[in-house]
Amino acid sequence: MTTLPGLFVSHGSPMLALDAGRTGQAWQQLAAKLPRPRAILMLSAHWSTRQPVVSASHAPETIHDFGGFPPALYTLQYPAPGAPWLAEKVSALLDAASLPASSHPDRGLDHGAWVPLRVMYPGADIPVAQLSLQSQMGPAYHYRLGQALASLREEGILIIGSGSLTHNLMDVVWNAGDDESNVAAYVREFQGWIHDKLLAGDLDAILDYRQQAPHARRAHPSEEHLLPLFFSMGSAAGGQVQRHFSGITEGVLAMDIYSFGDTR
Ligand code: ZN
Repeated sequence: MTTLPGLFVSHGSPMLALDAGRTGQAWQQLAAKLPRPRAILMLSAHWSTRQPVVSASHAPETIHDFGGFPPALYTLQYPAPGAPWLAEKVSALLDAASLPASSHPDRGLDHGAWVPLRVMYPGADIPVAQLSLQSQMGPAYHYRLGQALASLREEGILIIGSGSLTHNLMDVVWNAGDDESNVAAYVREFQGWIHDKLLAGDLDAILDYRQQAPHARRAHPSEEHLLPLFFSMGSAAGGQVQRHFSGITEGVLAMDIYSFGDTR
């Protein structure tokens, strides 16, 4: 069976659902390069619970978990089938790793999940299960969460962490879109630091990014949009690291896409 990499995608503003721009092209190209997954396990910044919860819905609804956007955005659907069998596997693996998980019977897909998936797999014909993150638990914990699920990659499951490489909504320049002429300097510094440490395989530094990375607190006033990165890294610990995109939208949202682990 094909082994898939673990992915980290930055999902950006919900507006990317209407026009995903250069980020969308990168999502599309990456999906086209990968072997077709049997199913997808998605962990998004927009579902946080105290303990891990995995959705066992047969037909996850498309959750429009945002306010104040154009009406067209609220009509979009991503009717991919659910993957209750995958949810069961996830629960069993997490239990075995002493990270007890519960399952949710009908939780749908939030925009962190469906916005990129709708572009990557527009046929909506690959089953998806979503796993919650624990926003209070930090990088090392999410790395462990990914490690516990690494074997799924060998079963044709695509593991995706969906967040944002930088995420300070106070600094966002709405409607800047893909225009990078006024990017805040701290964004590029933080982005560059993470990239260097990832390529160097300096796990200790990455997991300690909040103390060591330049402008860490400005790039992430709260951590939930970066935690999916550590989850994805853990799912392919020690594997090849590849950056597939590093654009910036809305002046401050670094849209980096990474894959971890080889495909064979
Ligand atoms: Zn988000």
